[in-house]
Amino acid sequence: MGLYVHVPFCKTKCPYCDFNTYQGIENLIEPFLHALITEIECWGKTLTYPLVKSVFFGGGTPSYLPQGYIEQILLAIQSSFQVSPDAEISIEANPGDLDAAACVSILKQGVTRLSIGVQSLDNDLLNLLGRRHHASDAVNAFQTARQAGFNNVNLDLMYGLPNQSIEQWRKTLSSLIDLTPEHISLYALTIEEGTPMHRWSTEGKIPEPDSDLAADMYQHARETLATAGYHHYEISNWSIPKLECKHNLVYWQNGPYLGVGPGAHSRLGNWRFWSVLSPRDYNTKASNWKTIGVQPTRDLVESDLENVPTLGGWEYLTTETTCSETMFLGLRLLDGLNLTEASALVGVDLAKRFQPRIQECIQLGLLEQDGDRLKLTEQVYLIANQAFTRFLD
Ligand code: SF4
Repeated sequence: MGLYVHVPFCKTKCPYCDFNTYQGIENLIEPFLHALITEIECWGKTLTYPLVKSVFFGGGTPSYLPQGYIEQILLAIQSSFQVSPDAEISIEANPGDLDAAACVSILKQGVTRLSIGVQSLDNDLLNLLGRRHHASDAVNAFQTARQAGFNNVNLDLMYGLPNQSIEQWRKTLSSLIDLTPEHISLYALTIEEGTPMHRWSTEGKIPEPDSDLAADMYQHARETLATAGYHHYEISNWSIPKLECKHNLVYWQNGPYLGVGPGAHSRLGNWRFWSVLSPRDYNTKASNWKTIGVQPTRDLVESDLENVPTLGGWEYLTTETTCSETMFLGLRLLDGLNLTEASALVGVDLAKRFQPRIQECIQLGLLEQDGDRLKLTEQVYLIANQAFTRFLD
């Protein structure tokens, strides 16, 4: 399974961000470390030391944790789970946190993949996004990571930003490619309700997102990155061959994962469950955790979950839900979904079950089928939800 570690701290909260992350609660960082280690140890015992193929530190800003914290968390993970020797261990980092000492230290602690939140290489846009770094800081952070020895680096960028021109985007992409990262994630800005940016937009202080322009930017990125040798493997993700993000592949293949930390989601057996959102509540509840003691021969059952003190909520995954999710998550991968393999995993003949819907999508030009393989057609990558919703019950 994959293991996700949620770090709910940021130095400042960006005005577009609606993740479960907070500024100004640094007093909770030290108790968080102890709570998180307790949670990791209890889950390890509960699930009887399961095999972990990927670990992903996300947030929030994991690189904002004091030096040595990632190492202590990884030690707890390694003693509580069987971490596969070739496991991918990723950490998200902000450019401002990545000086030479930090990079060397993160690498020494066993992290194999760095994901840097660049977001833009234009200072005015970075300023609008409320980011604390300049474009040159992002470039320096990347080069520092390289010099420290990181050979698997993702750069995250956003497009479709207020006042962003296609010319700015072209320049950003060209500078990005010059850096030759192994992996690139590109996300269109979505303005989420309840964020300061949503308020600015409704008050007319910033222009509403222009979806046509965002689509042009996406198309330009597709062409430019293909020419530069990147494999477009998921709607928003590109990599050099064989360096796809293993952890995210677990999600898209609807595989099992455990999330630890406040608000983290898990999908294990027939359950989806998540932790309490509040870092303060989480710290108290996780610290008091005793193991629930699942027997090795038995899957998680509802009463086990009820005994997890950090639990915020849970949902039983019916066969219908699992089939639907397997379809629309798998279709995010541009090579598509192998219907025979996916059917074997869920124990249901997906081709048969969804036959009318698959045919409808093919007739509408949303999907194409080649033997066992079903995939999105190229022209619908940005409106893929039109295909996905057809697999919901
Ligand atoms: S750094 Fe990332 S997680 Fe933190 S507030 Fe900004 S966008 Fe959100």
